Amino acid sequence: MAQFFYSQSKMGLYRECPLKYKFRYILKIPEEPKYFFTFGTILHSVMEFLYSAPQFPPLEETLKFFKQKWSAQTWQEKGYANAEKEQAGFLEGQEIIKKYYQKHVADNLHPLSTEMKVYANIDGLTVMGVVDRIDYLGDGKIAILDYKTGKTLKREPDQLMFYQKLLENSPKLLPLVQARDGLIQKISIEKMLFYHLPTLTEDSFKPVPSAELDIFWKGALKTAENILAEKFEPTPSEQACKWCDYRDNCPVWNSSKKEQGPMQETKKEETLSEKIDRLGKLNDEGRNLKTEIIKFLKEQNQTLSFGTAYKVELKEEEVFTFKDEAKTIDFLKQNNLLNKTLKPTVKSILALLNDPQVNVEQKQQLRTLTTKEIISKLRCTKTED
Ligand code: SF4
Repeated sequence: MAQFFYSQSKMGLYRECPLKYKFRYILKIPEEPKYFFTFGTILHSVMEFLYSAPQFPPLEETLKFFKQKWSAQTWQEKGYANAEKEQAGFLEGQEIIKKYYQKHVADNLHPLSTEMKVYANIDGLTVMGVVDRIDYLGDGKIAILDYKTGKTLKREPDQLMFYQKLLENSPKLLPLVQARDGLIQKISIEKMLFYHLPTLTEDSFKPVPSAELDIFWKGALKTAENILAEKFEPTPSEQACKWCDYRDNCPVWNSSKKEQGPMQETKKEETLSEKIDRLGKLNDEGRNLKTEIIKFLKEQNQTLSFGTAYKVELKEEEVFTFKDEAKTIDFLKQNNLLNKTLKPTVKSILALLNDPQVNVEQKQQLRTLTTKEIISKLRCTKTED
């Protein structure tokens, strides 16, 4: 067996599904490219580029660097669904870089490292990780930063604890700090941060106390032990299987498909006809729900009621319909009123009922030609925050 390097991503993947781990790391079956990973990787390299010199390079150069990285792969290679989506990703990336640049160009920050590969021997294991940025805070104190590029800031405490353990045991860090500050004999991790690039916000944490870190590390060691013992039993779950590229290779997935079990295959692209059917189904469900809610409100003598995010209002409306359309048209002709309605509709007849030029008698007759019905209308709107 080749030398085993233990990393946080290996730990995470094994915990997601050991069989998925085997497909990726033991059998080395490549996965489909994912646009969100490519987007993140390119933005990480731009961050590295920004901090590669004592000062930020000019913005134009930074954007040029981004464009070069972006253009190095086709949209298919990047994992986008089409060229339009890829272009939208490019524009989003450009915006993020411009905003980050404006916000931080004057910081004059000189990180200890960016995208540093860190190795440490811990409990007989070679542990490794790539730390996005390490900042020096003075007095031997450092901050570890991890860039996030997803739509929302997803905290991953396991990731930070893994890095804390790794950096506390890395022989590489002290010389790095000493190169900056020769008197330092001991380093300490002062804070750990997630920096969310799309919103330029950061979430900062104190390192966990050693007792807590010990518990975390015991769990991490147990996972490594299982990997080394080659325990690769699948642990299917909706979340893990939904995005798994190894479904065609996976016996669990294939048998569950045959049995039409609880795990249904997730459709990546919904066709137009499927969309239409889904819309129809939702409309039917909506109508049925409305009927149920109206019935309930009426029984309770209520006209307004609230969910947690939406409210409903019940209103009664008068609706007029023609009893006999032909008879109505005849009446309008005989009374020289047809020219007042371009095309006789319920609405135009109602307008005649309010028209001062139509006399009272005519209005009475018109009323006898229509029927009035009271219908209940339910309006559902979002409640104000
Ligand atoms: S399809 Fe599900 S059970 Fe099979 S390898 Fe992928 S995640 Fe594991």
